[in-house]
Amino acid sequence: MAGASVKVAVRVRPFNSREMSKESKCIIQMSGNTTTIINPKQAKDNKSFNFDYSYWSHTSPEDVNYASQMLVYKDIGEEMLLHAFEGYNVCIFAYGQTGAGKSYTMMGKQDVKDQQGIIPLLCEDLFTKINDNTDNSMSYSVEVSYMEIYCERVRDLLNPKNKGNLRVREHPLMGPYVEDLSKLAVTSYNDIQDLMDSGNKARTVAATNMNETSSRSHAVFNIIFTQKRHDADTDNTSEKVSKISLVDLAGSERADSTGAKGTRLKEGANINKSLTTLGKVISALAENKKKKKVESFIPYRDSVLTWLLRENLGGNSRTAMVAALSPADINYDETLSTLRYADRAK
Ligand code: ADP
Repeated sequence: MAGASVKVAVRVRPFNSREMSKESKCIIQMSGNTTTIINPKQAKDNKSFNFDYSYWSHTSPEDVNYASQMLVYKDIGEEMLLHAFEGYNVCIFAYGQTGAGKSYTMMGKQDVKDQQGIIPLLCEDLFTKINDNTDNSMSYSVEVSYMEIYCERVRDLLNPKNKGNLRVREHPLMGPYVEDLSKLAVTSYNDIQDLMDSGNKARTVAATNMNETSSRSHAVFNIIFTQKRHDADTDNTSEKVSKISLVDLAGSERADSTGAKGTRLKEGANINKSLTTLGKVISALAENKKKKKVESFIPYRDSVLTWLLRENLGGNSRTAMVAALSPADINYDETLSTLRYADRAK
């Protein structure tokens, strides 16, 4: 089969203090895999969507749809990790407006027990699975890169000296890549944790220096996972390389709703262009798979983000998306547009 369609999850976060102080109403309902959004301004205007997973977070863990960080990892992260072991390239990305829970889902709170997100849990599990392996003919290597894409420019988060305008090039076999991006070999989960921490700090510092917020950039954490099999009888070695891309996207809010002007507006347009292109790429791939026809034109080249993710989205790859939602009536428009975006990815 030419690849399964994108796994899509939606996850609603608890009310934040601003929403609570405004006594916001909850406009999201979840029942099984169905998520319903209620228009607070128009009675009986409810829209329902079906996704692979619908995750609820506030109220109690007894709630049927309640999802802990570990559950989200087990459903989505572990499945993608197992595909990487099979040799596929994989991609998990989080989409949604700023403050809806993308970073919480992807990175989580590093230093709080049970609050770590998909990225640290997947890295930890990767090394657990490597260390559990008892097949002596197998050996593994893991390399990590971490970058940020802001206004179509790439910044290396693992090399803070790099001020951020790395060239994007294309390798005849491996596809698009970032020239001079640090790719660091790691041998344990602790190694990765240190890199993640310094990368996250570099992201915040760079954003502060440039008077921007990290919510306007895409953060892409890549794991290059190589599995080597050495056959002692024939002395042959075979190799499988999988790239795991874990992406915390820029906030999807439209520039006009944030009152942006001038540079900010242009910046917003740029960010939205990559999110729009990503949406187009994912929907085109989903359509192709449904029709089981040869891949028609996919506009990967229209943004740096989609160009760099080409090998992780199309062809021999597996993709999952988590759409992060606010529960509050005041975010109705943005939440509905996130649900529609997620719906088109299926
Ligand atoms: P985003 O990355 O989309 O801008 P964040 O992930 O930073 O949003 O989330 C905003 C706030 O909401 C953070 O304080 C985060 O800890 C909290 N939060 C988000 N999702 C959840 C969740 N599922 N459960 C508990 N807290 C959450």
